[in-house]
Amino acid sequence: MKELPLITPVSSSCCSTEATSDACCAPALESATDSTSEVRGEVDGLRVVLAIDGMDCASCAITLERSVRQVDGVHRAVVNFAAARLDVVHDEAATTHDIERAVQRAGFRVADPDHGAGSSYWRTSRARLTASAGVLYLMGLIALLAPVPEAATIAVFASCIALAGLPVFRSAWVALRARHLDMNVLMSAATVGATIIGEWAEAASVVVLFSIGNALQAYAVDRTRNAVRALVKLTPLEVTVLRDGIETLMEAGEVQVDDHFVVRPGERIALDGRIVEGSSSLNEAPVTGESMVVEKSIGDRVLSGTLNTDGALVVRAERLAADSTLQHIIRLVEQAQATKAPTEQLVDRFSRIYTPIVVLASLALIIVPVLLGGDPSTWVYRGLALLIIACPCSLVISTPVTVVSAIGAASRRGVLIKGGEALEAMGRMHVLAFDKTGTLTEGRPVVTSVHVVGDVTRERALVLAGSVERRSQHPLAHAILTAAEGLDLLEPTQFMSIPGRGAAAQIDGQQVYVGSPRLLHEHSIATDTITSQLDAIHEAGETPVVLATTGGPLAAFGISDAIRHDARDALDELRRAGISRMLMITGDSEQAAKRVADELGLEHRAELLPQDKLEIIRELHARHGIVGMVGDGVNDAPALAAASVSFAMGAAGSDAALEAADVALMSDDLHHIGRAVRLSRAAERIIRQNVVWSLLIKGAFVLFAPFGLVTLWAAVLADMGTSLAVTANGLRLFRHDR
Ligand code: ADP
Ligand code: MG
Repeated sequence: MKELPLITPVSSSCCSTEATSDACCAPALESATDSTSEVRGEVDGLRVVLAIDGMDCASCAITLERSVRQVDGVHRAVVNFAAARLDVVHDEAATTHDIERAVQRAGFRVADPDHGAGSSYWRTSRARLTASAGVLYLMGLIALLAPVPEAATIAVFASCIALAGLPVFRSAWVALRARHLDMNVLMSAATVGATIIGEWAEAASVVVLFSIGNALQAYAVDRTRNAVRALVKLTPLEVTVLRDGIETLMEAGEVQVDDHFVVRPGERIALDGRIVEGSSSLNEAPVTGESMVVEKSIGDRVLSGTLNTDGALVVRAERLAADSTLQHIIRLVEQAQATKAPTEQLVDRFSRIYTPIVVLASLALIIVPVLLGGDPSTWVYRGLALLIIACPCSLVISTPVTVVSAIGAASRRGVLIKGGEALEAMGRMHVLAFDKTGTLTEGRPVVTSVHVVGDVTRERALVLAGSVERRSQHPLAHAILTAAEGLDLLEPTQFMSIPGRGAAAQIDGQQVYVGSPRLLHEHSIATDTITSQLDAIHEAGETPVVLATTGGPLAAFGISDAIRHDARDALDELRRAGISRMLMITGDSEQAAKRVADELGLEHRAELLPQDKLEIIRELHARHGIVGMVGDGVNDAPALAAASVSFAMGAAGSDAALEAADVALMSDDLHHIGRAVRLSRAAERIIRQNVVWSLLIKGAFVLFAPFGLVTLWAAVLADMGTSLAVTANGLRLFRHDR
C-alpha cells in the first residue's frame, strides 16, 4: 500500500503561522486538523504534508522550517518534530521537488513512502558515527587514567570530537545560515570553545553526550510515531477480486469501487465494503480498539483492517483502498499529533525569550570578568557551561512527546483525540453533557404502543407515518418504519425534516406531520383529542410521536429505547475519573427523559430544541469553564460545536462524525469516554511534571554556572538527561492501559 504525500486544500486558518521561534530546539507544531477534504495524489495542490527522515533533535524542526520557507512560492512551512511531519502551504511557483531539495539542503530526507514506517534510526549514518565516537570517548577516558602521553590522549579525544561533531557542526552551519540559534549551534560553540581553552576531554563529552542523548530520544520517539502507522500494515496488499465469476489476485490499490472480492476465513479485509454473500464473525479491533467479534451477514458494512474469523465472504468494495476508514483514521491521528497543545505554545513563547537572554548572559559572563582582569580560561569555561544551559531542549520536548504518545495510545484503543488542545481540555474537564438517544440509550427505538384517534385504523396510521419517515434519518423514524414493515407505504413529496421536532411531507395531497407534541402546537394543530393517549404514553415513560394532518391528530405512537446496558457502569467510571457534573440534555418528553435520567442517576433537561441545547452548553461553559458534550451528531451539531470538547460515538461508521468531533469514539462503547478522560488526566499530569522538572533543573544550573559550580559535561548530561527523562515520562502514556 502506497503512502502518498497528503495534500489538502488551504483553509482560511492557515495563516497563523508566522510565529517563528528563535529558541533552540523548539519544534514548531501547528494545527493541521482544520483540513476537511483531503485529496491524495501527485502534488499540484496547495498544501503538502511530507514525512521527514533524519530529524533527531527537536531543534532541527525550526531549521528545516526556515530552510523550506526560503523556497520561492512557499507560504508557510511547519514542522512537527514529534510526528516527523513537514506541512507546507505553497503556490504553483514551488514544486514538491523544490521543497524536497530544500529538505535535503537542511540535511534531512523526505521519507520513502513505502519504507518510511520501517526506517530505523540505528541504521542512519549519524547513529553509526555516534556509536564510533562513543567508543573513542571511552578510550580517551581510559587514556586519561592510564600512563599514556598527553598528546596521544588529545589525539583520541580530537578524533572523537571530529566523528561525533561532524553532523552536529554541519547542522549548526545549516541552522546559522537559516539564522537560527539552535542547539546544534550552542553545542558546537561549546565544543569548539572548550578545545580552544585546551579542555579536550570536556569538549568530547559535550559532543558525545549530546549525540547519544539525541540518538536515544530519536529512537524512542520514532517507535511511538511508527506504532500508529503500523496499523496500515494490517490491511492486506492483495485482494482476490471476483469479476465475471473468475477470481483474480490484484493489488488492493487497483480494486475499483463496486468490485466484488472474496475474503476467506482467517483473512483480513482489504477494503471498506458491504457483504453481498456469506456471513461471518469479524474482529474489528484495529478500527474500534476493541477485540470483540461482531456477527455480520449480507448487507452489513465491513471495514478494512478487520479480521474475518470463520466464514467465507464476498464483499462489494465501497471505497478505494486509499480512502478506507482505517486510512482516514490514521491520517487524522497524524494530523492530531501535529497540533500544538496550549502548554506547548506557552513553552515555545517562553523559550523564545529564554534562549537569547541566557546566550547574552553567557557572553557577558566571559567578557565582563576578563575585561576586569579575570582569568580568561576560567571565565570562558563558565560562559560555555551557561551557553549549554541556554538550550531549553527538555522543556520544549516535554509537551509534544506526551501529546504524541497519548494520542497514539488512545488511537490504538479506538479513541481518536483530535489534537493537543482537545487532550489538554479533556484532562481538565469536570462537566459533561450527554445526548440521550443513541448515546445513553441503545439508539434502536421500538414502537411499543399505537394509540389511534376516532376511526383511524392502526394500519392507516402506520402507513401515513411510515411514508413520511422513509425520508428521515432520525432513529425514531427507523422505529416507525420497522413497525410499518410489510405495509404498502406511499410516496411522500415535499419532505421536510424539522430538527428537534419531527418531519412533515405531502401524502396523497395531504400535509402530514410526524413528531413531538410540540410540533403540533407550533403548527396550531389542536391536541385535545389525543390528550388521554399522550397521558398513557407518558405514564409508560415512552417517547411520544404524534401523527397529524392539518385537520388534527390521527394517532400517537409510544416508542421506547432501552438504556445501554453498560451506561450505568460507564457513568460511574467517569465520576471516579473526576467528572463531577453530568447531565442529560434531550429533545424527548420530560417523562421519558426522567425515566432514563433517574435510572442512571443523572441530572436532566428535556423537551429541548437544538438551540436550547446550545444555550445550555453555553451556560455551563460560562459557569464551569471546560464543558464536554457527548452526542451522535445527528441533530446536535450546534451544541457539540459549542462544547469545549465534543465526543462522537460510533464514529467508525460516519465520516462526518469522525471529522467533526474533537474526540471520536470508533465503537459505540461508552466506556471509551472514561478511558479517554483517564488518559488525558494522566497526560495533563505528565506534562505538568515535565515542565516543572525541566524548569527546576534549568533554573538550578543557570544559578550555579556563574560560580563555576557546573562543569561542561555536567551541563550536557543534565540537559540530555532531563530531555530523556521527560521523553521517557511522556512515552509512558503509550503503555497506559486500563
Ligand atoms: P434527542 O435529544 O433525544 O436526540 P431530538 O432532538 O433528535 O432528540 O428530537 C426531539 C424530539 O423530536 C423527539 O423526541 C421526537 O419527539 C421528535 N422528532 C424528531 N425527529 C423526529 C422524526 N423524524 N420522527 C418522529 N419524531 C421526531
Ligand atoms: Mg439526537
